[in-house]
This record gives sequence, C-alpha cells and structure tokens, in this order.
Amino acid sequence: MERERIDEALELLWVLDEEGHQDTIRFCLSSDDDNVDELLQTLVAQGHAVIDGEQVRMTETGIDLARGLIRRHRLSERLFFDVFDLTMDEVERGACKTEHILSEALTDSICTFLGHPTTCPHSKPIPRGECCKKYRVDVQPVVTRLTEFEVGKRCKIVFITPSDVTRIGRLSSIGIIPGSVIRLIQKKPSVVLQIDETTIAVDPELAGEIYVKRISET
Ligand SMILES: [Zn+2]
Ligand SMILES: [Zn+2]
Repeated sequence: MERERIDEALELLWVLDEEGHQDTIRFCLSSDDDNVDELLQTLVAQGHAVIDGEQVRMTETGIDLARGLIRRHRLSERLFFDVFDLTMDEVERGACKTEHILSEALTDSICTFLGHPTTCPHSKPIPRGECCKKYRVDVQPVVTRLTEFEVGKRCKIVFITPSDVTRIGRLSSIGIIPGSVIRLIQKKPSVVLQIDETTIAVDPELAGEIYVKRISET
C-alpha cells in the first residue's frame, strides 16, 4: 500500500483526536477511500493503530508518525502563507506534498526561520519540535522583516518579496539584493539604511518586504 495513503489516514486520526470526533474515522476515510477495511488493516499490521469495535486508536508509533506529518504540514502552510503569500488553496495543496518529503533537519530549519510559530494559518496547533525547546534560550527568530529589525544593527538581506515587481530592478541597481549586508539607521519617519558607504531612504511599505538576518558586528 502506498506510503501516502497511510500518512493521510494517520493525519486524519490525529485531526479527529484533536477535535474529539475519533469515532467518525471510518466515515471520514470512506469519503476518499473505497477500501477502508484494507487501509485500517494495514495500519494495524504496521503497528500504527489498534481497532477496538468502532474505535481506531493510534499506537505510540502511530502518534509519533502523525505528529511529524502534522508538524510538517502546518509549518509548510505557515511558510507558504506568510512568506510566499500563496492563496489558501495553493497553501493546502503545497503542504499536502511537502509533509511527506521534508527531513527533520529541514523541518526544524523552517520552524526556526519562521520564529517557531505555535499555530498554522487555520489556527490549529503546530506540534513542537526539538528546535522549539532551544528557542527559549535564543529568543530571536532567524529572519525578520526589515521594519521589525533593530535600529543600528547590521544584517544581511535574505530575500525580498516586492508586491510591485517593477521595483526589483531599481532595488538591485542600488545594491538592495539578497546577500547584501546593510545597517538599519532609522525606522521613523522614514526607513533609512546604509549599504557600503551609501545611505538610502526606502519606502516603509517596501522595507516590510525586505527580509533580513542579523549578523555579528565584527
Ligand atoms: Zn492549517
Ligand atoms: Zn521550532
């Protein structure tokens, strides 16, 4: 049986548990799977679940797998929604793919990059990872918008998401491109930054579309 079918069933079990509707598992599965019994038997045979009458309960291994899938799915949603500004439909479709392929290291990098978010765009909880525990010590998210960055500090531009693509050419002509090291001079009344020896004022809206990563002062 396909890995993805098992994964989807485990995710469904997780969501139903979360919502307290665990008893509707057969009904929910049959909406997109015509061989529910075979699917449930596979879950049991692989040690992911036990069947007790109408109840299907995940085993510890099943719960671990489901937690990982849900974490990858909801973090992907956050990434696609917050950073890439995709539509909810594209967010959903993308997350359904990435949840099966992201490694744990990559998942933790995305989590750290996003500042260890606790909920997905649907306000569902994102299961915590190892990276989230370390986060208590290291409080800064890795990447922030330039408008949220500290005045006076140096940072490196990681990426730019211009709402107006025609700006890209003008920005790159003044050195505002991913990889450039800048210093934020002031945020108000206008956003001023320093790049090499040049000081440039940028539109606050545009500054919110520049994502930066802090770098050490030395
Ligand atoms: Zn979601
Ligand atoms: Zn984390």
